[in-house]
Amino acid sequence: MTRVCVVTGANRGIGLEVARQLALAGDTVVLTARDARKAEKAAAGLGGAVEARQLDVSDAGSVERFARELGHERVDVLVNNAAIHYDTWQRATGADLGVVQEALDTNLLGAWRVTQALLPLLRASRHGRVVNVSSEAGSLASMGAGTPAYAVSKAALNALTRMLAAELRGEGILVNAVCPGWVATDMGGPGGRPVAEGARSVLWAVDLPDGGPTGGFFRDGRALPW
Ligand code: NAP
Repeated sequence: MTRVCVVTGANRGIGLEVARQLALAGDTVVLTARDARKAEKAAAGLGGAVEARQLDVSDAGSVERFARELGHERVDVLVNNAAIHYDTWQRATGADLGVVQEALDTNLLGAWRVTQALLPLLRASRHGRVVNVSSEAGSLASMGAGTPAYAVSKAALNALTRMLAAELRGEGILVNAVCPGWVATDMGGPGGRPVAEGARSVLWAVDLPDGGPTGGFFRDGRALPW
């Protein structure tokens, strides 16, 4: 059965590559971006069944409109990929809390909003998969100084992952957090691993079979410490 897969922040970077791989595998991909033109341009560069949609995860109105106008009776896969503010330039002691707030609004609440809005359609799938693209920067086990907005937002996203997984376990919806590793994108900068490898780490959780793990934190299919 062809899956309907929604990917946020899919106009570039890891999200675009995840969309490309899903389309190559024969899935129907709803490629979303906060700028409608960027979504259309990215979708036009991919083959297969790819639909471009505007979705700003930080804008409740945009999320509500996206869910209302989606035009599919079910969503099988949601990849919460969109994120901002890898704030290497600041420390928690002096952090600009406006930046922290923006990071939380996109990286945590964005994923939360979109998941809530699509929940009826994920339930209709009966094999729903929610993949929260997190980062080892959000791991409390290794948390130290630096990137405060980003690290706190990803730690909170990991907490959300645990809660959603627990609440949806009985409905066949698997919810996991994944770290793509250090990837050479606009966010990761040069020197990281190829974007295809980062995307593969995400797709591992997309492709989990029924009864597979839920409420976990993984990179390349291996559990990471919380
Ligand atoms: P990226 O190249 O900076 O791409 C981020 C994407 O998110 C862009 O498409 C951006 O859209 C979109 N976005 C930002 N705010 C948005 C919003 N409010 N609504 C919708 N889309 C929004 O980053 P990336 O490296 O591909 O990162 C993808 C994911 O992997 C993120 O969750 C990131 O935290 C995670 N990650 C990355 C690395 C790494 O080394 N790269 C490591 C660990 C985790 P615009 O083009 O409009 O800005």
